[in-house]
Amino acid sequence: MPETEHVEVRQSKISGAGRGLFARRDFSPGDLILSLDRPLVAEVEIERMLDTCAWCLQRSELDPEGRKLAASMGLPVGFIEVKVCTGCRRVVYCSKTCQSRAWKREHKHECKVIAPKERPDLPDGVRAVIKLLGRLKADPKDERILAISKFRPAGEASGLEALSQQNREKFDEFQMLALAAYKYTGEPKIAGSDSQALTKSLLSNIMSNAFELGSPLDGAEGGKLGIGFDPFLCNANHSCEPNATLVFNQPQTLLRALKPIKKGEEVLMRYVEETNPFSVRQADLREHYYFSCQCPKCKKGSKCQEDVFAKRPEELPAEYCKIADNLITRHEANLHNFFVPANDETAQLRMAALQAEAFSVSRRYTRYADEEEVKAALKMCINSGMWTWTREPVPQLCRQLFGLYIASGNPYRAFRLGLKRHFEITPKLHSQPFYPTRLIDLWAMSTVTNVLCGPMHQTIYDEFVQSGVSLRTVYFGFLLDLRDNLPKMYGMESPFGRVVEQTYAQLMANIGTSEAKIRELVKEVWPALEIIARKQRMSWPSLIDAFLDDERDATYAQCGETARTIFGRNFAVKPVKNQGQLSYTFVGTTAVLKFILSFRLEAGRIDPDVLKLAKEIHGGLVPDVEFCGHARTPAGKTLFVYKMPLLPGKDFWSIAGPDFHLDEGAVAKRNAMIKSLARYFARAYLKPQTVHAAVRKEQEEDALRRAAIMRKFLPEISAILDELEDNVPVLFGPFYRFVLTHADLSGASVLLNETTCEITGVVDWSGASVRPFAVDLPSLFLAGGAGGWWLTGKDDDNKEKDDAWREYPRRGELEEAFWAEFFVAACVTDSARERRTRRWHAEVAGKLATIIRFGFDRRADGSVSDRPLQENKDLLRAWFGNDKVVKEEEEKESSGVEYITETDEDEESSGVEDAPTAG
Ligand SMILES: [Zn+2]
Ligand SMILES: [Zn+2]
Ligand SMILES: [Zn+2]
Repeated sequence: MPETEHVEVRQSKISGAGRGLFARRDFSPGDLILSLDRPLVAEVEIERMLDTCAWCLQRSELDPEGRKLAASMGLPVGFIEVKVCTGCRRVVYCSKTCQSRAWKREHKHECKVIAPKERPDLPDGVRAVIKLLGRLKADPKDERILAISKFRPAGEASGLEALSQQNREKFDEFQMLALAAYKYTGEPKIAGSDSQALTKSLLSNIMSNAFELGSPLDGAEGGKLGIGFDPFLCNANHSCEPNATLVFNQPQTLLRALKPIKKGEEVLMRYVEETNPFSVRQADLREHYYFSCQCPKCKKGSKCQEDVFAKRPEELPAEYCKIADNLITRHEANLHNFFVPANDETAQLRMAALQAEAFSVSRRYTRYADEEEVKAALKMCINSGMWTWTREPVPQLCRQLFGLYIASGNPYRAFRLGLKRHFEITPKLHSQPFYPTRLIDLWAMSTVTNVLCGPMHQTIYDEFVQSGVSLRTVYFGFLLDLRDNLPKMYGMESPFGRVVEQTYAQLMANIGTSEAKIRELVKEVWPALEIIARKQRMSWPSLIDAFLDDERDATYAQCGETARTIFGRNFAVKPVKNQGQLSYTFVGTTAVLKFILSFRLEAGRIDPDVLKLAKEIHGGLVPDVEFCGHARTPAGKTLFVYKMPLLPGKDFWSIAGPDFHLDEGAVAKRNAMIKSLARYFARAYLKPQTVHAAVRKEQEEDALRRAAIMRKFLPEISAILDELEDNVPVLFGPFYRFVLTHADLSGASVLLNETTCEITGVVDWSGASVRPFAVDLPSLFLAGGAGGWWLTGKDDDNKEKDDAWREYPRRGELEEAFWAEFFVAACVTDSARERRTRRWHAEVAGKLATIIRFGFDRRADGSVSDRPLQENKDLLRAWFGNDKVVKEEEEKESSGVEYITETDEDEESSGVEDAPTAG
């Protein structure tokens, strides 16, 4: 019998709502309002009939692989065994207890009806009605069942009629299903009722008032296992600002307070996802429950937090306008459900189409969703700049992707995404720490973290240790948090609570430390974890790809194993701190020897000829690289393995950055460094390489073509592009020097002496080639962010750190220092005017390379594609948008372009045309 003494059913004050549930005493958040042993109707959905217990709705994983995975995470689905009813072979039970309870109450009425082999599996609603009809036949006075037929809103004849007018299709479907149930049960006679009419109202009332039943422990898989309905519980009306929530404890069902509820106040729960925007909530309620919501939040319309976009609909970037235009026809029939208010009608339609597309993906059950599709929808939302991470359906898509990562055995990816959700998304959507989905998320995160603590993921574990985070402690943190909040929702006696308690007990038995001590450790580690979570930046080349498509998961562990084998026992092996995009690198150390082992994707392969040239020019600054053979990623990509000695010195970041405030000491360090870099550039300059005229021509055409693409894409920088186009013939002409170019100079690839700030080594030569002089010069001054330089720092600390690259208080000063040193080191002795022209050409070459490097997307092999990169538009605009072409006057003065001919130091290769290409 339901425990219902704390609530009563009365006429609701909500217009059109009929009856409602009212508190008979005060409730605090987490208090139990109502508890049922089992809802009157609890029905597994058709696809779960053979793997989910028809009584308690606990699911069993039938697929052996999935079962192993689930068991390894301690999930009940990995342990539950279901047995089929031998009478019908249509439904399964997890235990004798469940089977006998089900039989006594309902299955005896259904078993024979659904047994015939030629009969299809019947939908949940039909099966529910078949059982109810059987029960009524046995007891025609069963008040609880009869109450269903009088239920709102379709209860009275007028209700059904209203439905037939509102949604003819649904009405017809219900009529048909009811008829099926009526026929299959043999057109039963029920004393005192028109049994056919009764069947119709039972079916339509159940179908239009049912709530979802799912397991919290199945959360990652999508959760929903079936539908439930209870005439008493379903008196609780809907609100988009609910003060109570439903908890399904398989099969016990609870109603719990989310907020303080005063005696006499109406108890309100949610029927649809309340974090959705206004139009979506309304559409969902119309579609499934046949009413429009009049709650206080809905009365405000599209003005609440759920409806806020990051930008106004009119500001949708051009690229996404095109995408949206293509989607408008696809979602035409649904656009009104995703209505977005805007001043401009076109903008309105476009945003509705984007919403319709994203929601169409987010609403797929996780088990039917496709990882690529979910990612594509997420990228569309985030990269368009319109969605924030907390605006639906982005949170739903993240949740889905999290589940997909777990299902496909990618715990590391799941963990990263889970951190983002834990710190940045979920708390903003649901403030109560005991909110059901937050508890489910804590469980999922604790299991994923536990997996990462296993021996398969030693490398990942080590990496976190380096950042001051022990994943073991993080695991405790999630589990303790869950255990603290669980009693306020599911309770420790629920199947969920029991699993958590068991896990906790095992853990405590194995570690011999007190819980208080663990809590201290957790407290210490949590801020560092939060920093890691918030630092996860969407980085170039494609804003979000690097975050979503991190391939490292299994690769990390495997590379770690290989590294340990190659180095041998005597070495301590650790991954390096700043990992590259195309490589994964370990350092192996003994007391005296230090080596680097680098696993590189094909695009990051090192060309031995280029490396030889680099050693000729820069000597000991370039490491001796030994190729050790191949390895393979789990996806089957080839990895090239290289071993090299660890060069002395530290990377820029360890010495100078991130240092945003430039005191005199920092400026002196940067001056010393820039002079050392000037000498490095001079050495390459003094060894010009011969390049065939045809090759120069080809590169020239490519540069011009890209300048043209960029001109259309970013007209704001057309002054710079004019300048580039004018000078391209010089840069690729016979007299401009082509030299060995590293192409990826960054804070991570240049090593420095800690005291003198002189270069001690330059690593990662995989992108090096012979190119026009100075194309990688701007990377010293421009690029910021992880792996780049922050050479020039910033003085204004009111600005966001991420914007630091926009501020160059010391840039001019450092550039002057660079060139002064360069001209001395490169033995350039010509006139001041000629020097200016040299410097100008070098800078133009640099700008051109920068626009190509940052302005275009990359192909999978790392090469530059023809697609301009939307995500870096702002970056390029900031770098070049206000850049005045200052040299114009000087050029006029020198009567057109004056080629600098190579007549000085290196006669051997100067000005040679049509010579064969050098290595
Ligand atoms: Zn069961
Ligand atoms: Zn049966
Ligand atoms: Zn509402």
